[in-house]
Amino acid sequence: MTFDLVLKNGSIICMDEQRRVLEQHAIGIIGNKIADIFPLGSHSYTAKAEIDADNCLLIPGLINAHSHLPMTYFRGLADDLPLQDWLQNHIWPLEAKLVNETFVYDACLHGAAEMLRNGITCSNDMYFHMAAIADAGSKAGLRVIVSEALIDPPDRGDKYLQGIGTKVREMKQRYLGNQLVDFSLAPHAIYTCSKATLIRCAEVAAKEGFLIHLHLSETETEVLNCIAEHGLRPVAYLESLGLLDVPAVFAHGIWVDDAEMQLLAKHGNSSIAICTESNLKLTSGFAPIARYQQHGINYCLATDGVASNNDLDLLAELSITAKLHKTLNNNATFLPAKQAFAGVTIDAAKAIGKADEIGSIESGKLADIVVIKLDELGSQPIYNPYSHLVYAANSCSVRDVIVNGTASMLNGELCHVNEADLLATATSYRTLIQEQ
Ligand SMILES: [Zn+2]
Repeated sequence: MTFDLVLKNGSIICMDEQRRVLEQHAIGIIGNKIADIFPLGSHSYTAKAEIDADNCLLIPGLINAHSHLPMTYFRGLADDLPLQDWLQNHIWPLEAKLVNETFVYDACLHGAAEMLRNGITCSNDMYFHMAAIADAGSKAGLRVIVSEALIDPPDRGDKYLQGIGTKVREMKQRYLGNQLVDFSLAPHAIYTCSKATLIRCAEVAAKEGFLIHLHLSETETEVLNCIAEHGLRPVAYLESLGLLDVPAVFAHGIWVDDAEMQLLAKHGNSSIAICTESNLKLTSGFAPIARYQQHGINYCLATDGVASNNDLDLLAELSITAKLHKTLNNNATFLPAKQAFAGVTIDAAKAIGKADEIGSIESGKLADIVVIKLDELGSQPIYNPYSHLVYAANSCSVRDVIVNGTASMLNGELCHVNEADLLATATSYRTLIQEQ
């Protein structure tokens, strides 16, 4: 058999149904897919290229279930503030002045490169200027789900409502040949989109099969306002509008009670993208992971945007989330490492409707694979790979990143972007932003 690329040796953390860990195996890639996983020496093969992962872990590429890639240049700009003050008095005014196609492309290219360096191979993004995000993300070699993000304009009318979904449809057509890019429909939140907008989103998503991406119950105020305005808690409100009838990723999901969880479980279409570091920094609260588990609701992890995190390190997110929820539940056995790791791999793939394609290392799936090096002081000795990944590994251990069968990073060097250029561009934007 002839493969385009073979990764051999190391421990393969499959994250398949049986949670197999394979030693002394090779992963054979043909085109953009994993063609075979086989014991070394079991049969002869030829490879056009080979990566030796001896003394490494091979893991499924990490999936970031909620991000705002183009906010990268707002890192550290307005910290130590509560959410609404941060958003309304700092982020939104700056976005209104600065954000255009070029800004989004440049910031997204930087963010995509940063994600790859952190072992992320796919990000479910929410922002404006779809083409710039699609172009920059795929230029860096990152798989990205680009959204048509909606915040109601003051002059919304029938024309605006009827136009919802048009851009996603157009973009899907335009990027048919780009295997790294997919699209979703993203009403920003229940407090920035009207009832009519949300109903229209549900209708369009049901008709066209678009994934919905929305911020949900990030703060208690959002819930209290929803009750005051609509007489319902947010999840019940979304149900009344049809938004629980279509596949959806709801970011945050902090202030969700048991009755709301029963609604989510009954419909079974929604997943929660938990953004622990962003929530901690903005003091929004803690997503109730234990109760989501009890109700059988799929949840996964995400970085949120750089402006509120302030990094795009999903392994760090994983580590802090696992530890925090042990303490919150006063139970050291809660969320063991093997289970926690699913939140950045297979369960995140389920959330974005791509569990058949990514999230695990299995024959037939797309070849999104990350090589984690173990030949360093902080990685030895190693007894349990899941414990290592959740509690000890960090982005510095990410050595190679394969996305869609092609290397996006090799031996710590990004393959498709020049890091020095990215740094120089970021510095020039800092000057521009400081002048505002
Ligand atoms: Zn967000």
